[in-house]
Amino acid sequence: MNLQQAQNKFKELNEKLRSYAYVGSIASFDMSTQAPAKGKAAAAKNLSLISAEAFSIRTGEEMKNTLEVLCENKDKLDEVTAKEVELLSEELEKSRKIPKELFREYREHISISGNVWQEAKEKSDFAMFAPYLEKTIDYKKQLAAITKPEMTILDAWLDDFEPETKTEELDAFFSVVREKTVPLLAKIQKEGKPVREDFVSRHYPKEIQRQVAHKLLEMFKFDLNAGLLAESAHPFATTITHGDVRLTTKFHEDNILAAIGSTIHEGGHGIYNQNAQLSPIVGNTGLAFGTSSAIHESQSRFCENMIGMSETFWQYFYPTLQEYFKEQLSDVSADEFHRALNVTKPSFIRIEADELTYNLHIMVRFEVEKLLAEGNVPINELPKIWNDKYTEYLGVTPPNDKLGILQDIHFSAGLFGYFPTYSLGNAYAAQMLHVMKKTVDIDATIKSRDLAPIVSWLNENVHKYGRLKKAKELIMDISGEPLNPKYLTDYLEQKFTKLYFL
Ligand code: ZN
Repeated sequence: MNLQQAQNKFKELNEKLRSYAYVGSIASFDMSTQAPAKGKAAAAKNLSLISAEAFSIRTGEEMKNTLEVLCENKDKLDEVTAKEVELLSEELEKSRKIPKELFREYREHISISGNVWQEAKEKSDFAMFAPYLEKTIDYKKQLAAITKPEMTILDAWLDDFEPETKTEELDAFFSVVREKTVPLLAKIQKEGKPVREDFVSRHYPKEIQRQVAHKLLEMFKFDLNAGLLAESAHPFATTITHGDVRLTTKFHEDNILAAIGSTIHEGGHGIYNQNAQLSPIVGNTGLAFGTSSAIHESQSRFCENMIGMSETFWQYFYPTLQEYFKEQLSDVSADEFHRALNVTKPSFIRIEADELTYNLHIMVRFEVEKLLAEGNVPINELPKIWNDKYTEYLGVTPPNDKLGILQDIHFSAGLFGYFPTYSLGNAYAAQMLHVMKKTVDIDATIKSRDLAPIVSWLNENVHKYGRLKKAKELIMDISGEPLNPKYLTDYLEQKFTKLYFL
């Protein structure tokens, strides 16, 4: 195969993969939003065949031969194609190292483990799940040793989700977070001005909340002609195809705050996806996606926390919200609303945690994963270890496994190493905010009710590069320094000191 033939083949294979990705993502979206319960098992089976087919194209002989020719001629390729080739080659190399039989066994185990976890969680019975978890850890260790023999187990797990992230970096990161957050939280508990919350659980009809959600998405420049908002049990964002990015949220009629936060959050993921697709650099290529989980999360958290939950935002948006909920909010001030939206308190459940305590939930998980990787803890001691860490960092002790170690799906799905990306996302967002402030007057922008300068900054510095720059390169280019947790802890300290009148 000569270079021209390889380029044509590469294009053809990528087009095929894009079609599979389209069918796969629209089917998963459907399953999460509206597919009837009785059809789900068959849908999952059909979908797994589609994914297996796509996987064999990505890792098959044709792709391998094509990539080899392209790699040999790398200097003749444009920057974007060269990067696509590099990323696909890495993936191919990694997956070809895994024996097919082992991978099949592992996949089968994971699907059973997921079902057992569901039941164990409902019954709040860790002992029931423990043998499956033990087996998952075993498989994950084997896979790490095969695919990344040069790394420690935990580094290999971390690298799966946030490439190039090392255990020692996270140790340093969380030690700063712990040192600053734990005493701040304790001080808020002791001396903070109480927050009014009685109005939060009044009745807020879903239909009106949906209108508010659309209004918020428009403010954050999510293009509703190139996407849509649906509902699902757990909110998420996904790229379906060029010109189609879909989001979900969840409306609670007895809680006005939940959908506001989750809609802006998913909107932040959504504008990243939309702008990457439209990018003059990576649009319409295999790079038109977010570059890593942490950077994706930085965009959602930036929109949600740094802008959407800021004091200035609610000074200007609150009267609009009051128009929608005249009766429910007639006796509530903008300030009271903003404080309720940002209320912080130690809790058991990560996905319901507030901005300040969230990183402590992640720190507990990181430390537990570290123990799993090192492997010198008897599995049945994990619930106690988990609970002790909650007591130490958050000051609350989970009363049972359902509210403790069984709450998240990640361990049952073998997603070890994923959790830290959430906190890294917060830290990337804070560092970006610090840099953005040098050129964008954020308060004045919010006051003008047109968030374009903020969203354009994110597009110019992050979105338009898609996967062309890796996370570490991106933050270096933006801020001139590597990720530094100090920006996150400074931001949190400033925000919560003011919010709680400390
Ligand atoms: Zn997110």
